[in-house]
Amino acid sequence: MRVQFWGATRSVTGAMYMLTINGRHVLIDCGLMQGRRKEAFEINRNLPFQAEDVDAVLLTHAHIDHSGNLPSLVRAGFHGHIYATSATRDLAAVMLVDSAHIQEQDVAYVNKRRLRQGKRPFEPLYTQADVLSVLPLFRSVEYNRPFEVLPGLVAQYIDAGHILGSASVVLDIQEDGHQFRVLFSGDIGRKGLPILRDPQTVGQVDFLVMESTYGDRLHETPDQAKESLRQAAETTYRRGGKLLIPCFAVGRTQEIVYRLNQLWEEGALPYMDVFVDSPLAANATEVFRMHPECFDEEILELMLREPDRDPFGFSRLRYVRSVEASKELNTLTQPAIIISASGMCEAGRILHHLKNNIEDPRTMILFVGFQAENTLGRKLLDGQNPVPILGEHFQVRAEVRRADGYSAHADQTELLSWAQQVHRASSIRTIFLVHGEEPSCQALAQVLSKEMQGLPIEIPYRGDMIELKL
Ligand SMILES: [Zn+2]
Repeated sequence: MRVQFWGATRSVTGAMYMLTINGRHVLIDCGLMQGRRKEAFEINRNLPFQAEDVDAVLLTHAHIDHSGNLPSLVRAGFHGHIYATSATRDLAAVMLVDSAHIQEQDVAYVNKRRLRQGKRPFEPLYTQADVLSVLPLFRSVEYNRPFEVLPGLVAQYIDAGHILGSASVVLDIQEDGHQFRVLFSGDIGRKGLPILRDPQTVGQVDFLVMESTYGDRLHETPDQAKESLRQAAETTYRRGGKLLIPCFAVGRTQEIVYRLNQLWEEGALPYMDVFVDSPLAANATEVFRMHPECFDEEILELMLREPDRDPFGFSRLRYVRSVEASKELNTLTQPAIIISASGMCEAGRILHHLKNNIEDPRTMILFVGFQAENTLGRKLLDGQNPVPILGEHFQVRAEVRRADGYSAHADQTELLSWAQQVHRASSIRTIFLVHGEEPSCQALAQVLSKEMQGLPIEIPYRGDMIELKL
């Protein structure tokens, strides 16, 4: 079997790995590359292989950096099956439509200027119509149920505990008279996260391809993270400002809402209104409600014990869908919490809230997720001042904080213990590290190699092709 690493190599976006097994091609994930606009657009538009030659896609989870380039793949001629858990399929449906909407808006904005300059307008990467041709290709598969993808390739999804429906993919391969197992971790979650079950592992793995997003860092515990959220709310409330939480609409938003709900029930949240200003978050929350098969015991027990209590909402919380209602939030004078996408401040309504509040020293911006290089979120965390928002420059007078404990990604210790658990029940020959910026993969490689007695660790570059065989 050959693996060619086409994305999320020494970086965290655009996850995409091409497998060649018995002469047939299977893609693991087909994510959107994010970062520098022009470069990302070119990479996303020009797939490095013939789309019609791909037999199937195995999708690990719905996050756009894993699923977001499926419309380009289908547009370029792919017509095979896209395998995913049913929760991933449902989430991907709402997320891809949203992503197309962003692509269309982005281009419309640029084209306004280009047309004024007499230049030819750009085409969006893909449109909502393209997304509609992706959806019929999905085939739902459930956790822990092996299925045949191609002759000689049986796949099995196990819970990755990262977002609703997220999976690691176990591949049992039969090629040239040999049988071996490859495990793709997908994005690995954390033990003890609310709502989701803990990440699962399997044994008998010969080759492991694993993520390393936080390979060089340790997170707060989920309890410390809850306390950071309480303190941020309290501080902002006391100075009469707004607490802005840029948040992935899917996963993180539901987790933050669940925590705010708990704080509210405990009487630990100041008396302030909470707005989830994202139609995508509202839609994704509906998908969460439809998939209790993915929930952990804590939330299932809560639902049984208090059937009237909504874990994704409470009396002071409102989901904002319409643009008008979103604009009304600008006129709020009392302290409030506004949760809005995108999580890295690259697009979406959060930009308007930042624009309106960033020069007010009473405002607090609380980051609860990973901020990739070259994003506005990273610039704010790095202390850049002023910052560009929607084409204008703004002074940063707001307080910028971060609460790492909300990460849906395992930290260094958690990644190590996950890999060790796999290794104890296997005899892994090589580990390939992907989905981490350079310092993260290097740090994790060192730790893994030290703790696992010199097991070979490789960090592929984009385009590297590696032969896996016994
Ligand atoms: Zn993810």
